[in-house]
Amino acid sequence: MDRHPKRILVTGGAGFLGSHLCERLLADGHDVLCVDNYFTGTKGNIVPLLGHPRFELLRHDVTFPLYVEVDEIYNLACPASPIHYQHDPVQTTKTSVHGAINMLGLAKRLRAKIFQASTSEVYGDPAVHPQTEAYWGHVNPIGPRSCYDEGKRCAETLFFDYHRQHRLRVKVARIFNTYGPRMHPDDGRVVSNFIVQALKNEPITIYGDGRQTRAFCYVDDMIEAFVRLMDTPDDVTGPVNLGNPHEFAIGDLAQKVVTLCGSRSTIIHLPLPVDDPRQRRPDISLAGQILNWHPTVDLDAGLERTIGYFDALFGTP
Ligand code: NAD
Ligand code: UDP
Repeated sequence: MDRHPKRILVTGGAGFLGSHLCERLLADGHDVLCVDNYFTGTKGNIVPLLGHPRFELLRHDVTFPLYVEVDEIYNLACPASPIHYQHDPVQTTKTSVHGAINMLGLAKRLRAKIFQASTSEVYGDPAVHPQTEAYWGHVNPIGPRSCYDEGKRCAETLFFDYHRQHRLRVKVARIFNTYGPRMHPDDGRVVSNFIVQALKNEPITIYGDGRQTRAFCYVDDMIEAFVRLMDTPDDVTGPVNLGNPHEFAIGDLAQKVVTLCGSRSTIIHLPLPVDDPRQRRPDISLAGQILNWHPTVDLDAGLERTIGYFDALFGTP
C-alpha cells in the first residue's frame, strides 16, 4: 500500500460511509477535505474529527463547481436511502450527474485519481443472480427509483468516458447494502429502521412478504475495500462489486434484529415499494482477485455493534 501522505477530498464526507472514510484516511496519515451540503449527513457524524489538524470541512453542494487542490477524490455525495433520494428526485439526478461532471472536471485539472461510489442499484431488479460486473442490469428508466439508479448509471458512463477521452485514473465501486454505526436513525434503510423499531419496542415494518433478499456488509469491511481499490495500479478502473455475499431474506433479518435486541416488537407488513428488487447478492470474485479483499464481519457481529451504537444514541436503559 502507498503510505505517502496525500491531500484527499471526500464528497459526502459527513454522511454514513463518508464519515468512516474520513476517519480512516486521517488515521492513515493523510490530509482530508470533507465536502458536504448536509442533505442527509450531519455535522454530528464528524464532530470527533473537527479538532484534528489534518481535517478540513467545507459546506458545498457538488452540483456546483469546486476549486480546491487535492491529490485524490472520493466522490460519495448522494443521498442513498430510497426515501431520501425520492424526496427530491430531480436534485438526486443532478447530484449524481452534475456532481460527477464537476468532480471529474476537478480531477482532470489536477490530474488526480478519482473514486466513484456507485451502487448495486445499477443492476436494478436483477434477472441474473448473483450479480457479476458483466451483467448490464434490469433497470426501469421511468420509475420512482430511476432518479438514483439511472443517475448512478450515467455517472459510471461519465467516469469511463473521462477515462477513455482524458486518460483520467478512475476507480468505480459498485457498493451493495452496507450498514453500521452513524446511519441516520430516520434514514429509512432496512437495518437502521429495524434496529430503531426494535429498541423502541415498536412494530417492525416489513415491506411486502419479507421474502425479498439483500446481502449486508458491515461498514469497516467496506471502507477497507475503498482504500484498497484507490491504491490499485492505474490500469484497474473497475467497476468492481463490493459487498458481503451472504444473502438474507428481509423477514429473517427482522427476526434476527428482534432477538439480538431482546425486543418485544411485533412484526407488521406494509406494501412493497414500487420496483423494489426481489433479490440481490454480489459476486465478489473480482474484488477478491484485484484487492485481495473479503468481508470479515458477519451479520450477527455487525448488528451487535450497530445496535450498541443506536442504544447509546437513544440512551435506552
Ligand atoms: P448518506 O446519505 O449517509 O451520505 C451521503 C452524503 O452525501 C450525505 O452526507 C449528504 O449530505 C451528502 N450529499 C448529498 N447530496 C449532496 C450534494 N449535492 N452536495 C454535497 N453533499 C451531498 O449515504 P451513505 O450510505 O453514506 O452513501 C454514500 C455513498 O455511497 C452514496 O453515493 C451512495 O449512493 C453510495 N452507496 C451507499 C450504499 C450503502 O449501502 N450505504 C450502497 C450503495 C451505494
Ligand atoms: N424494507 C423493509 N422495511 C423497512 C425498510 C426496508 O421491509 O422498514 C425492505 C425494502 O422494501 C427492501 C429491503 O428492505 O426490500 C432493503 O431496503 P433498503 O431501503 O435498506 O435498501 P435497498 O432497497 O435500496 O436495497
